[in-house]
Amino acid sequence: MSQIETYDAVVVGASFAGLAAAGQLSGAGRVLLVDREPIGAGQTSACGTLLAVLERLDAGDALEQVHPRVVLNVAGRRVGFDTTHRPFATFDYATLCQVLASQLGDVQVAVAPFGGIDPDGTLRLGARRVRAAVLIDASGWRRVLARALGAPPLDRAHTSTGVETGTAHAGCALEFWFRPPGRPDGVHWAFPAGDHVREGTASYLAHPHGLKRDLTRFTHVDELPAKAIHGGAFPSRLAEPVTDKVFLVGDAAGQCLPLTGEGIRPALVFGQEAGRQARAVLLGRQDLPTALARYRTAVTRTRPAYRTLEHMQSWALHLPPSVVAHAVRTSASPRLSPLLQAAYWQVANPDTLRAAPDTKATRTLSRVPCTSGPAAHRAEDATDLAACAASCDCPPGTHAPQTAGCCLAP
Ligand SMILES: Cc1cc2nc3c(=O)[nH]c(=O)nc-3n(C[C@H](O)[C@H](O)[C@H](O)COP(=O)(O)OP(=O)(O)OC[C@H]3O[C@@H](n4cnc5c(N)ncnc54)[C@H](O)[C@@H]3O)c2cc1C
Repeated sequence: MSQIETYDAVVVGASFAGLAAAGQLSGAGRVLLVDREPIGAGQTSACGTLLAVLERLDAGDALEQVHPRVVLNVAGRRVGFDTTHRPFATFDYATLCQVLASQLGDVQVAVAPFGGIDPDGTLRLGARRVRAAVLIDASGWRRVLARALGAPPLDRAHTSTGVETGTAHAGCALEFWFRPPGRPDGVHWAFPAGDHVREGTASYLAHPHGLKRDLTRFTHVDELPAKAIHGGAFPSRLAEPVTDKVFLVGDAAGQCLPLTGEGIRPALVFGQEAGRQARAVLLGRQDLPTALARYRTAVTRTRPAYRTLEHMQSWALHLPPSVVAHAVRTSASPRLSPLLQAAYWQVANPDTLRAAPDTKATRTLSRVPCTSGPAAHRAEDATDLAACAASCDCPPGTHAPQTAGCCLAP
């Protein structure tokens, strides 16, 4: 039997939430971050988030494309949201993970599957046996660590499922097709990412039928080999973020936002918050129960907003599409849209993010690709971004294809 190693803290899961939490523990004690895969190897998402997230994390190297406009197609209507003041961006998953890993300082990283907990509280990490007073579960919706300690699984009735692939299409805006033909329980999307577009399909149901078939139809790519597709489940209901011993962060705590399925920003924001509270424990500034209680308060403060998004998801799925289209058009109006967007960003405020100790957040907006393909245009500043956004409107006589957010001549 292997010797038992002792750490001050162990973080299970080294994707967005785990890297964010572990980054805050750098220099605070003996910390182990463990994942069953090498860091950056296991992409599940379309990697769309706010540009501000990348800027705050000093992760400009991961940037692929900036999107000053988000387009929603519903019931045959195409509605554009101007997000120039707080644009979205697509980024490269492996590069972002590497940037966050480079900010980990003295945190030790291991590749090993979490295999359970012995009765005396020892963690089984592959062949290793590890003990720690502070435990952070960042293992995604399966929440393997907390469950091994008796926490219930996430309610599958409140999880969605998505699959995605990269295509050689080009595009300009982040574009969604809500309740498209053949997928009345979900959404298609096209996220341009520099030289390719990530296209996907998701259902708000936990066990939907025909997602891969849908993806093939949507992307117009006849043969999609299994390894070209990634995806999985993502939660749509906020769960309890702590047990009496464990911090749960990211999808493990159901922090992915309902309706939009945006889970990266909350995983990073709440991951860092858990990391900060845990850091204070390691430095002897507070005890573990206080840290857990403070983290819980920070998360549950957002519960009303999560509930609202959950209701909106339910209405969007069950109301007649024409009513949904009307609501979407109203929310995109120049008066309402900035207010709604500001309220939405507050749920997991990217301005609370900070690069790990010893790094500074910098603005990285210069020379970011705005559109891709032959008409590529590079945005130098916010004014250029506005021009980019305008160019995402399809001029008369053109149309937006189902496959990407660019405009085609008839
Ligand atoms: C198809 C799809 C597209 C999406 N697109 C977007 C998007 O564009 N923008 C957005 O904001 N959100 C998106 N999401 C949601 C987003 O991916 C998640 O909310 C986000 O990844 C949650 O981050 P996390 O760190 O909590 O969990 P995860 O990213 O799921 O990471 C969990 C980590 O734990 C590790 N792990 C799991 N089990 C074990 C174990 N037993 N032992 C050791 N390690 C383990 C895994 O290897 C993984 O690295 C998408 C989801 C899907 C399915």
